[in-house]
Amino acid sequence: MERVYNFSAGPSMLPVPVLEKAQQEMLNCGNSGMSVMEMSHRSKPYEAIIGAAESLLRELMGIPDHYKVLFLQGGASLQFSMVPLNLFKNKKADIAITGLWAKKAYKEASRYGQVNVIASSEDKNFNYIPDLDKSKFSKDADYFHITTNNTIYGTRFIDLPDTGNVPLVADMSSNILSQAYDISKFGIIYAGAQKNLGPAGVTVVIIREDLIGSALDFTPTMLNYKTHADEGSMFNTPPTYSIYIVKLVLEWLKELGGIAAIEKINIDKANILYDYLDQSKMFRGTVEKEFRSLMNIPFVCPSEELDAKFVKEATANGFVNLKGHRSVGGMRASIYNAMPVIGVQKLVDFMRQFEKDNEI
Ligand SMILES: *Cc1c(COP(=O)(O)O)cnc(C)c1O
Repeated sequence: MERVYNFSAGPSMLPVPVLEKAQQEMLNCGNSGMSVMEMSHRSKPYEAIIGAAESLLRELMGIPDHYKVLFLQGGASLQFSMVPLNLFKNKKADIAITGLWAKKAYKEASRYGQVNVIASSEDKNFNYIPDLDKSKFSKDADYFHITTNNTIYGTRFIDLPDTGNVPLVADMSSNILSQAYDISKFGIIYAGAQKNLGPAGVTVVIIREDLIGSALDFTPTMLNYKTHADEGSMFNTPPTYSIYIVKLVLEWLKELGGIAAIEKINIDKANILYDYLDQSKMFRGTVEKEFRSLMNIPFVCPSEELDAKFVKEATANGFVNLKGHRSVGGMRASIYNAMPVIGVQKLVDFMRQFEKDNEI
């Protein structure tokens, strides 16, 4: 079977050159005589791998020196707990509820303190980013949490809230490395790797140093950022192979021209699909235009029958994992960094043909 165009929301496509490199190095990585999976995490060759992953991420994202980069486990979901456990002093946080993941972050943080919902877009099934009224922000909040890109609903923050001295914490799981961000605007950025960074199993946390070291007393050692920051993500065995693949993805991205280059490609790629959706009589995008995501594009047909027919025929033609999340229905095309432009062009050609064949 040929490789398909995989529109999965995550785990998702990896760049083919990355998979090929991993294949080449599978049995003998860098003259070590062994696979990365077989290496001690404390060995010289592995230190070089994790070191390169960190320095490439710093270089590509422009991470300032007073931020630590951690490679952790537990997914983005564990950060919903780790952030409050480590940042709560006044036990107060602000949050914008822009989707299901934000709701989970809210729920988890609420176990340890008071979380104020500054705004929510749940009234319209999260198809927009709500205005954030600065007069509602809590001056004594320990952090302000946003989800920069809402994977399920296909929205993204275009402007970041100005939270003053309150650290801005961002769940960037589904759009890290997809567009340029000024890292100094954030206290913490975290992202599960399986969307835009690499395989599942590793979570990247970028944290300003002054936010490390004041975790709540009862915080388990493994959930304290200090534990991992002090040990260079080597307090215990890190997810070695996942980090290795992240390194290959970062090398690939650097080769391509870095974030500036991929951002341009991502805009072009998303526009191919949005432009088609905007003139189609069959398909309709579900998100308010100004908040459209570059990474996740939900759309619907006029009926659930047509949705199902489309997904079935698309799958048979090599466009897979297009079924939308159950809370939105219809379809969702996740077009992360690794999705080539041609994949989106071909999808649109296929949609056009489907529209013709099923005139409504
Ligand atoms: C996928 C996703 C998560 C959950 O990630 P896990 O690594 O599975 O815990 C959280 N937030 C966002 C925005 C996501 O896209």
